[in-house]
Amino acid sequence: MSRCTMKKVDGREFWFVTGSQHLYGPEVLEQVRRNSVELVGGLNDTGKLPGPLRFKGVLKTAEEIRATCESAGNDPKCAGLVLWMHTFSPSKMWIGGLASLKVPFLHLHTQFNRELPWAHIDMDFMNLNQSAHGDREAGFIHSRMRLNRKVVVGHWSDPEVQDQLGGWMRVSRAWHDWQGGRIARFGDNMRQVAVTEGDKVAAEINLGFSVNGYGVGDVVAHVQSIQDSDIDDLCREYEDRYTMGEDLRRGGMRHGSVREAARLELGLRSFLEDGGFIGFTDTFEDLHGLRQLPGIAVQRLMADGYGFGAEGDWKTAALLRAMKVIGNDLQGGTSFMEDYTYHLDPAGHLVLGSHMLEICESIAGGKPSLEVHPLGIGGKDDPARLVFDAPEGEAINVSLVDMGNRFRLIVNEVDVVAPPSPLPNLPVARAVWKCRPNFKTACAAWLYAGGAHHTGFSYSVKTGHIEDLATMAGTEVVVIDGETRLREFRQLLQVNDHCYQGQSPYGRV
Ligand code: MN
Repeated sequence: MSRCTMKKVDGREFWFVTGSQHLYGPEVLEQVRRNSVELVGGLNDTGKLPGPLRFKGVLKTAEEIRATCESAGNDPKCAGLVLWMHTFSPSKMWIGGLASLKVPFLHLHTQFNRELPWAHIDMDFMNLNQSAHGDREAGFIHSRMRLNRKVVVGHWSDPEVQDQLGGWMRVSRAWHDWQGGRIARFGDNMRQVAVTEGDKVAAEINLGFSVNGYGVGDVVAHVQSIQDSDIDDLCREYEDRYTMGEDLRRGGMRHGSVREAARLELGLRSFLEDGGFIGFTDTFEDLHGLRQLPGIAVQRLMADGYGFGAEGDWKTAALLRAMKVIGNDLQGGTSFMEDYTYHLDPAGHLVLGSHMLEICESIAGGKPSLEVHPLGIGGKDDPARLVFDAPEGEAINVSLVDMGNRFRLIVNEVDVVAPPSPLPNLPVARAVWKCRPNFKTACAAWLYAGGAHHTGFSYSVKTGHIEDLATMAGTEVVVIDGETRLREFRQLLQVNDHCYQGQSPYGRV
């Protein structure tokens, strides 16, 4: 299976601070500092963290804490803060700093030593190693202030602790990428569709990214300015990377369709790069001046890390971008997806996921086939697209919907299977999966939750990542997994509706 490796997610770092106080004297504080340096170095050496963790000191006063928290928010490279109390650190000192903290934080409930030195333990040891109660004082003030955070528990050498920390850092990086991130919409929403609509102002306030519309003519200008030599180069790359019929290769009867698709890819890419966008939407209802619905162009832009939503679906474009950043460099790809049609054999119900064209090649199980076929809707020329089957494996489908007073994330864990038989006449990329816990429960739960037909689909991003993202956003997440029981799931939705009632729309504002 392939993976997505993006160009522009590096350069972010994470800060680590250790809480203490002056009560213990300089020798103890020096030991706390040395232990912290060793701990942070050890975590960096695991290779499991997606970016560097920088030790920023032992914090002993309210002034130091406030200054550090403010600096974290003001440093454009800092995507998150990890806190740990080596000793006791009275939490009223932390109120001002935490109240001003603008980046997500993780409370690492660990301890420098793994085992207790039972034969030698004395009161000096007890004074130095107080995470067990120091972190409880910290946890209280986090809860008292209703702060969204991630708590990770266990010794720092524990692989599970390292994985959780690394996973949270990945999500923090995606959150950081959302802040100020720009999504371009070419055309508006597909007419009359509800679930792809939503409050873009609320999204910018609560999720950080902005969504703005552009005339498709703006793209057309970029498309028309592409040089023939650049199209030649890209067509050569297509021929190297993909299986192609002779009629589509250079010199072939239908090569013109491939050239037009390449021109479209280069034009779209140029528009997105010029504007510094992280994602985009299009709609087949508004392609004025474009000769094809972008197919392979969108597929390849997704593979490079752009978020995408079809039919104007900006929420899925943003979600997909976040999932791309979270899963960057991990094994297993991430794509835009749509629950398209079902196989309702009593022996086993399956979902066939696909779209008109736009499935990311990062989830291709083998070498994709570049093909040109009629589309059937939209009234444009036959578009070029990559056709492939997604490989077997565990995956998740994620939807982001606007409930009118908050955003809701819905996750379904699925198992991708090999298609029961070949699909020689289906000219689009596809994935076939079994839902957990089973088809009927999963689909009923998804419908009760109002999950969309469009999703972010990923082999590398896990449910826990989406839960962390929801925490950072301060928004709702519901999970449909192997444990889901419909009766309890419906009760959860009722309780959640009640929780959000009476609050300001979308929670924070
Ligand atoms: Mn669609």
